[in-house]
Amino acid sequence: MQSAGGGRRAAVVVNPTKFSDVGRVRRQVVRACRRHGWADPLWLETTAEDTGTGQTRQAVEAGVDLVCALGGDGTIRTVGAELAGTAMPMGLLPGGTGNLLARNLELPIDSLDSCLAVALTGQDMRIDTCLLDLVRPARAATRPTGDTVGTVPPPTGDTVGTAYRPDRGALHGEREEHVFLVMAGLGFDAEVMAAAPEGLKARVGWPAYIVSGLRHLKGPQFAVAVKVDGAEPFRRRVRSVMVGNVGKLQGGMDLLPDALADDASVDAVLLSPEGVVGWAATIAQLSTRRRFGHSRVDHVQGQEVRVVCDRPVAVEIDGDPIGEATAMRVLVQPGSLVVRVAGTGRGEARRHIDALSDQGREPLPQPHHDDRVVHGD
Ligand SMILES: [Mg+2]
Repeated sequence: MQSAGGGRRAAVVVNPTKFSDVGRVRRQVVRACRRHGWADPLWLETTAEDTGTGQTRQAVEAGVDLVCALGGDGTIRTVGAELAGTAMPMGLLPGGTGNLLARNLELPIDSLDSCLAVALTGQDMRIDTCLLDLVRPARAATRPTGDTVGTVPPPTGDTVGTAYRPDRGALHGEREEHVFLVMAGLGFDAEVMAAAPEGLKARVGWPAYIVSGLRHLKGPQFAVAVKVDGAEPFRRRVRSVMVGNVGKLQGGMDLLPDALADDASVDAVLLSPEGVVGWAATIAQLSTRRRFGHSRVDHVQGQEVRVVCDRPVAVEIDGDPIGEATAMRVLVQPGSLVVRVAGTGRGEARRHIDALSDQGREPLPQPHHDDRVVHGD
């Protein structure tokens, strides 16, 4: 395609499997670029072998002005991980069923044209990314990553109520590093995402996760030791631990209500439902921030969160199941990724409001009353 606008140029790293007619999507993107005075984009499709890393590198080397990710949360994560630590702005274009980062940044995810307008004309915002240091189970260290969760054997016996007793080999598996943008989870959420059939996810979108989740209500709990920054570690029996940068899911559920994309913190939630009723109560608690029944929801926040499990559990990052882990460390990398966001709107208003309450700033001026000042004699 011929360059039309002549000025700035964007690259689009696209997962073609997310679209029934990728040619039509490409034409839509080209039209938007021309409309906003940009050159025709560098169009780079991901493959099963390279889900976005090489394409992002190629885009940066080509000297584009903006790299857009067009796909699901996995594509967004892969592109963002490659751009983290650089000054290259990233555009978020919706193409999957979650779009969790875009949702949390209050981007207009229901419209590709609106998201293109934000990417091409919006403001740069620095957000945090999360560095995940993962410990693989020693026995499964040679397993391929990916779809291994479905084959995990059920735990032997019910261990609810037993003390935290880490596997002797728990910390001697292979280490692995990942960068994620939304959240990493151990347990329930990872099992749910691994079990949601791709076809169903593509057809019906996010409720597939819930449908799939109903099958896991009675799943195994596991014991964890959690350490946040320099605090003393604490122990819990949990069904799920999620550690993330932002936590808004679909349907008004906010797993990490105190989390912001640019607060230089990671947030974590530990879910410890007691049985089926407990799980329903936990969902209600997450939706309303009120406590029900015997469920237990713990929220923590810090720069670094460490979680050690008493056995290998399923793990996911930004919605992608990546096998099992016995421990993880999540470290915030403040302001490491530049993303394009809308210039106006609730997101910006909230950032301004938050800035007013930043600790360590000058106190607001107080009214001065001479008659209340006493200088002694
Ligand atoms: Mg954060």
